[in-house]
Amino acid sequence: MRVLLIEDDPMIGASLQSRLGHAGMAVDWVTNGADALDALAADGYGLVLLDLGLPDRPGLGVLEALRRRKSRIPVLIVSARDEVGAQVAGLDLGADDYIVKPFEFDMLMARIRAVLRRQAGHAESKIVVGDITLDLASHEVAYRGLSQLLPAREFALLHALAERPGAILSRHQLEDRLYGWGAEVESNAIDVLIHYIRRKFDKDIVRNVRGAGWMIPKEPA
Ligand code: CA
Repeated sequence: MRVLLIEDDPMIGASLQSRLGHAGMAVDWVTNGADALDALAADGYGLVLLDLGLPDRPGLGVLEALRRRKSRIPVLIVSARDEVGAQVAGLDLGADDYIVKPFEFDMLMARIRAVLRRQAGHAESKIVVGDITLDLASHEVAYRGLSQLLPAREFALLHALAERPGAILSRHQLEDRLYGWGAEVESNAIDVLIHYIRRKFDKDIVRNVRGAGWMIPKEPA
């Protein structure tokens, strides 16, 4: 999952980028509204974390501009402003949720999962695709009677494929979902992750489409 973090506080920004990164998200971090809107003009983000107090414009202005472009990307406001008026304004302008700083990281993650579940149109934290069940909260994967807790990146790769069952994702598309700006990505990084996943389950868990990429079939085998 590619995440855009819009946050001008260097300590909070660095800490969120690192912790979300460890949770398997590819986090691009910008510190003002103009850079945020530039970044959001490109596709590929699955979630926006938005601070309201930005140096060049109000965070709500970024949200408004984004929704004016008809973007449906989930936006979670993360702000120190705890007054009801700010929260109501944010939600009414199209934010999906609002979390007040300071917050517990686990609470942020739970809110993120809830927002993503709603976006995907299901109420549970489990995704079932073909023979695979992914638990978004625990990162446990079950496949044909085997269950394993996967490391963040391996889970993120399966999650990216499971979000679009039956669709082929190329190496480039997968790298885009899994790694943020400036990440050093080895040319065989995706192959290595798939190798580890297959070794834990079975080679059939991810299908290779020669020359095109990888996919997870929609229906059980
Ligand atoms: Ca701020």
